[in-house]
Amino acid sequence: MITRRQAAVRLDIPVEMAQRNGIPARMTEAELAAIDQNPPSWLAQSRANRTGKKPVWVQLTCVVCGYSEAARPKKWWPEVTYLSCFDHGYDEVPPPAEGLSRTEVDGIGTRFVGIVDAPA
Ligand SMILES: [Zn+2]
Repeated sequence: MITRRQAAVRLDIPVEMAQRNGIPARMTEAELAAIDQNPPSWLAQSRANRTGKKPVWVQLTCVVCGYSEAARPKKWWPEVTYLSCFDHGYDEVPPPAEGLSRTEVDGIGTRFVGIVDAPA
């Protein structure tokens, strides 16, 4: 079964939109495929309106262990060089390239630290 959140990720729509338009709390793969391939008018409209805009969801993936989750991007998130789970050691992440200095931004997604390597 697919949760509403997973369905929203797959359809690339906000969870609130899925809920408002009657996407059930759980659905089957076949039900989701049917909606995706033959979108109801609200979904077709949403897709038509979204051309060229920022993605609704981004996939966050840890550079160390490969843990991955979909998240709604936040305006304050920096352009990161790497993402790592908060519980990995500093030395598990690849070192910054020559001449770049590193800053870390906590609180991205449910468990990520954003690592930003930029010219000092
Ligand atoms: Zn990790």
